[in-house]
Amino acid sequence: MKIGFIGLGNMGAPMAANLAKAGHTVTGFDMADVTVEGVTMAASGADAAKGQEVVITMLPNGKILRAVADEIIPAMAPGTGFIDCSTVDVDSARAVAEQAAAAGLLPVDAPVSGGVGGAAGGTLTFMAGGSPEAFAKAEPLFDIMGQKAVHCGGAGAGQAAKICNNMILGATMIVTCEAFALADKLGLDRQKMFDVVSTSSGYSWSMNAYCPAPGVGPQSPADNDYQPGFAAELMLKDLRLSQQAAESADADTPLGQAAMQLYAQFVENENGLGRDFSAMLPRFEKRHRG
Ligand code: NAD
Repeated sequence: MKIGFIGLGNMGAPMAANLAKAGHTVTGFDMADVTVEGVTMAASGADAAKGQEVVITMLPNGKILRAVADEIIPAMAPGTGFIDCSTVDVDSARAVAEQAAAAGLLPVDAPVSGGVGGAAGGTLTFMAGGSPEAFAKAEPLFDIMGQKAVHCGGAGAGQAAKICNNMILGATMIVTCEAFALADKLGLDRQKMFDVVSTSSGYSWSMNAYCPAPGVGPQSPADNDYQPGFAAELMLKDLRLSQQAAESADADTPLGQAAMQLYAQFVENENGLGRDFSAMLPRFEKRHRG
């Protein structure tokens, strides 16, 4: 298949490389001067999008996605698949999908879970929104770049699933860290805490698969001085998107709101920038109630 790939950063570059490795003809474009193995670089986004069967974007945010969409949609022939894998706000995802559909394209919003490791290993999870026809066109490429793709519904449903998932993740990571810090003060051994919670009703992905306490549970960024992993600022981005969506949909999300405020404080005022999102635990260790 002839594929255009726009946005070859930490995530996009390994995803594009995996498509090329699988035998597809991939033409790429990035604002920055990058090279990706097996990918031919074009001079502009429009050049990378022209004459392709599918175009994939992997960009920082909704504003940039909208600008890139304005540039590439006129360059794409009707029937072309347009897969946006960036994490963006639901409103931008829906607006771009509408614009693409009006041009006769087959748009899918397909944000991912799995991080840079999942992108490199081809083990991402895709959460997709779009028509059944558009999803069917994208699915063989999801199979190369990832291990699972869930068709969540119409345009924007993929972004909706992603931010709801990450709102749960942010809040459960915070409360897991709070609980470890409380357990410390109560004199409870951390390993015992893990042994109980990981097999009791307080269990979660944050505790069981990504334990924020060093030396406890499976290997996680906590065992590597909280190098990301999943950086706190990316969690903050997703929590902000969740609260933007909650506001526009008139949904009451007080814990999501509190999680967003805490990660904002952590990233902006407490040296959390560049640290894994589980570094909330050393933050709580240092704090007192009043
Ligand atoms: P990144 O900043 O490494 O990559 C983004 C790339 O887009 C950069 O190379 C940048 O030069 C390029 N770009 C910006 N504007 C452009 C334009 N107008 N035209 C062409 N290229 C342009 O970011 P990333 O970590 O690869 O993340 C990409 C997306 O994936 C984000 O939406 C992010 O939220 C999401 N995501 C990231 C992770 C992660 O762990 N890094 C996990 C899941 C989802």
